[in-house]
This record gives sequence, C-alpha cells and structure tokens, in this order.
Amino acid sequence: MIVAGRTLRGGLDLRADVVVVGTGAGGAMMLRELAARGVDVVGLEMGAHSTAVDFSMREADMLELLMQERGARATADQQVRIVQGRGVGGSTVHNLCLCKRTPDEVLRHWARDLGAARLSPESLAPDYAATEAELSVQKVDAGYLNENNRLFKVGCDVLGYASDYTSHNRVGCMKSGYCIMGCPFDGKQNALKVLLPKAVAGGARVYADARVERVLTRRGRAVGVSGSLLDEAGRPFAPLRVRAGAVCLGGSAVGSAALAIQSGLPDPSGRTGRNLFVHPAGAVAGVFDQPVDGWRGVPQTYECTEFLEFHPGSEKRVWLVPVFAHPIATAVMTPGFGERHAAVMAKYRHMAALTAVVHDESPGRVRVTKAGRIQIDYALSPADQAQLTLGLREGARILLAAGAREVVVNYENDPLTLTDPGQLGQVDARGAPPYELPLTAVHPMGTLPMSDDPRRGVVDSRGEHHAVKGLFVCDGSVFPTSIGVPPQISIYTVSRHVARFVAEAG
Ligand SMILES: Cc1cc2nc3c(=O)[nH]c(=O)nc-3n(C[C@H](O)[C@H](O)[C@H](O)COP(=O)(O)OP(=O)(O)OC[C@H]3O[C@@H](n4cnc5c(N)ncnc54)[C@H](O)[C@@H]3O)c2cc1C
Repeated sequence: MIVAGRTLRGGLDLRADVVVVGTGAGGAMMLRELAARGVDVVGLEMGAHSTAVDFSMREADMLELLMQERGARATADQQVRIVQGRGVGGSTVHNLCLCKRTPDEVLRHWARDLGAARLSPESLAPDYAATEAELSVQKVDAGYLNENNRLFKVGCDVLGYASDYTSHNRVGCMKSGYCIMGCPFDGKQNALKVLLPKAVAGGARVYADARVERVLTRRGRAVGVSGSLLDEAGRPFAPLRVRAGAVCLGGSAVGSAALAIQSGLPDPSGRTGRNLFVHPAGAVAGVFDQPVDGWRGVPQTYECTEFLEFHPGSEKRVWLVPVFAHPIATAVMTPGFGERHAAVMAKYRHMAALTAVVHDESPGRVRVTKAGRIQIDYALSPADQAQLTLGLREGARILLAAGAREVVVNYENDPLTLTDPGQLGQVDARGAPPYELPLTAVHPMGTLPMSDDPRRGVVDSRGEHHAVKGLFVCDGSVFPTSIGVPPQISIYTVSRHVARFVAEAG
C-alpha cells in the first residue's frame, strides 16, 4: 500500500537500508529494482497519491493535482514555462508516453569525452531493452494518428522530410486525448501503474505527502533524510525522518539539485544545479478550413527528424513534433488579450499545431533562494535561438504544405501570420529573441551530471556522489548534456543501472 502522509498526524520516523526521494521515472524504477533485490527501501514523495479514478479530465483541477506549482512553474524571468509533475508517479503520470532511446552518438560522447564511462550504448543496451519490455513500449501505426498528427504527416510527406511514427508505452489506450491530465482509463504503462505496485508488492514502503528538505550526512556519508509531512493544502504539519544506509535522489533535475543545494552538500566540481538543459520549445499553429479538433486522440504519434543531429555544435538541433493543448493551456500560450485573443481562440477547433524542440547547448541553473524557494535561471544562447528559429520556420512550412489556410507564429507583441511559403523568410527576419516567444520546456535534465572525473561531474558513472559516500542520484539530473529526445525511457534505464550500485551500498 502507498500511505498518504497527510493521515499520519504523529509524523514519521523510520529506519531502512535505502531511502529514495521522489517517485517519478527515476525514483519508481529505483524502488522497484531495490525491492526486487530484497533491499529494505522507503520511498518519499512530496505530492499526493492519485489514481485513474481521480483523473477527472478537468484541466483546472488536474493542473493543481498533478503539476509542480499548479502548472505555473517558470524561469525566474518568466521566459520559459517549466512543466513538471508532482505526486506519486511524478511526471510520468501526465506525460505523453513517447519513448525514444538516447541516441548512440550522445551516449558515446558522454562515455568517451565526458567521463560517463558506464553509460556507453553497449553497456546500457540490455537495460534499455528490459525497461522497454517492462513498460510495453511499442511503435504506433496509422491507426493511432489523430487529425493533428495526420496533417503533420501530410506536410512532412509533401516536403520529403525525414519523419516516422513514434513509440509509446500505452496498453488499452482509449485514444481520449487527455493524457496530459492523467489517464482516466489507466492506459499508461508508467511509474504509477507498472513500477510502484511491483515495488510495494516487493516490500517497499512508499509515502505520499512526504517532502524531503534535507539530506542528512555524517563524516562525509549520507545517513538519511529529514523533512515534513504535508496536509491536503500542501502545508507542513509534522516532521519526517528516515535513517538509512544509503540515500537516492529521484526528485527530478530541478528537485534533486534544489535538495542538494538546500542541504549544503559539498560541491567540489562547482556544477551542482548549474548544468541545466530543458529542451526549450516554441509552437506554430496552422488554421485549416476543416475542423481539426486537435485535442482528440493520441498526441505525438508522428515526428520529423529532418533537422535533428546529435553531434555537439551541429546546426541542425531541432526536433519537430505535433502538439496540442486543452483550452486553458492554449489560452495561456496565445499572446495578446481582449478581442485579439478571443479572435485567435475562436479558431481553436480548426487549429493544428506543432512544437519545435531545441536540443539545447546553453546551460541554465537551479538555485534555492534564502526563503527556500526554487529559482530557475535559463536563457537561450544565440546559437540555440537560431535553432528555435529554424524549427519555427520549418514547422510553418510543414503546416502550409499540409494545406493550412494560414500559419501563426506566436510572437508576443505582434504574432506573425503567413499564408504562403514565399513568406517564410519573415520568420528568419524576426528570429527568436528573448521575451518575444512563449516558450515551454518539459524535459529538465543535467543538474547533477555524471562523470567519473570529479572535476566534471557531481556523481560518478555508478550514480554515487563524488564527495558524499552512500548518496546516489537516479533521475534526469545525471545526464551530462541535453539528449535531444524525450527522456523518460532513458531516465528509467539509467535508474535501473544505478540501482545495482545502490543495492551494494545500502
Ligand atoms: C507535459 C509533459 C509531457 C511529457 N511527455 C513526455 C513523453 O511523452 N516522453 C518522455 O520521454 N518524457 C516526457 N515528459 C518528461 C518525462 O515525464 C520526465 O522527463 C521524467 O518523468 C522525469 O523523471 P524524473 O525521475 O527525473 O522526475 P519526475 O518524473 O518529475 O519525478 C520527480 C518526483 O519527485 C518529487 N519530488 C521532488 N522533490 C522532492 C522532495 N524534496 N521530496 C519528495 N519528493 C520530491 C516530485 O514531486 C516528483 O513526483 C513529459 C513531461 C511533461 C511535463
């Protein structure tokens, strides 16, 4: 059973071999792996425990239930919205189920040039295969294309752009299109549905509403964690402490880095929190004569990789994929207000949209303010702005090729409307300067990077902290660079890899 911390009026004081912070992709896989190995493990999750019956398909309620900061988390300057999950299952509860391995070229770069020796394609391949089998990852086919994705495919085909169906971890999918609010039909083969029940059946003790505020150390060794139990409103009401032989951080690239900083952990490489990549993304919308009803059906079933290469410094670092949002999120991302805003929203049923996702090379930073609040600093370098511009231009080209009557690039003060491919140069002329475009990022990574060289990494390629023995990291924080593809399957897989070493330490 997963215990709701809000019911434990007297607080929580436990002992275990290992304590895991967070229950998202990394944390849940760690809990499942350790329980299967007979390790006495406790999992602590700051958010609530919800299941399919709680997923009401109501956007306003689900943002509050499932997202960090009710979906309003953003960089300190509000330039990039950073969407992350909160709750048992983490961001895997509301994600879109896309599964794509980190390309071999990126893994080779990590292993050969950045000191992450154990993350080579060859050494990770068996763990990837086992993860994909456990989560029922399968390539989708034409039967899964909704109208938004079908139009995207038409545009790619007309232009001859490299493109393909994507792979997903869904079984019994009802194609409702409400994935981003948690699946009410329980079709997602994610941390919440697949891994945590196995972890609990194997003996793991998992607590929701349990916020970790400090990693406890003694003589350079992690010895447990402390924090607070939270009530229904997210307010602390009782203390928690877990003493353990090893601690594993799975709080995400934002949460784990913040916890390391807040705990005052040693930082010999100076990289804690500093190596933040997010895959910043901007959207392009096309308006079609016929209704598209883009919110219906399975999202992101087709992708365009024509402009995506993986060698560092490439001038093709943008991934194009259909995207669609429900009305609140669409309204938030649509610039302007009043009549102009209403005129755009009136076209909602006729819109198809896609997103240009940058495989970024300009690192940002996670900090913790004196008041204890997480602060995220992130800005696109001129090179990354050029990639975003490339993506928006080519995205607009795809929608026009698919037959869009007009295509809108959402510049904040003066949206650009194009009706003919001959006008695409206007996107290059406007570019992607700071504060001009509403940007969203859903893949934070890299803030506690892996390297066997302690000058380069915060953790070694077993996942153990260089300066705190018995402290491991098993989430997206450990990626040394951006990966350029959706990260969940790589996070599950790296956590599986790290679990072997945690089991030995705990
Ligand atoms: C809208 C959206 C769509 C996405 N779609 C896809 C997709 O289709 N494919 C894909 O590959 N990826 C997708 N992702 C990204 C993917 O879900 C994440 O990259 C992945 O889940 C991150 O795993 P993680 O373990 O690093 O963190 P998370 O899964 O975010 O889990 C971290 C957990 O730790 C908890 N936590 C944090 N700090 C503490 C603390 N101090 N104490 C206790 N608990 C704490 C959090 O509440 C959270 O539940 C999407 C993300 C979003 C937001």
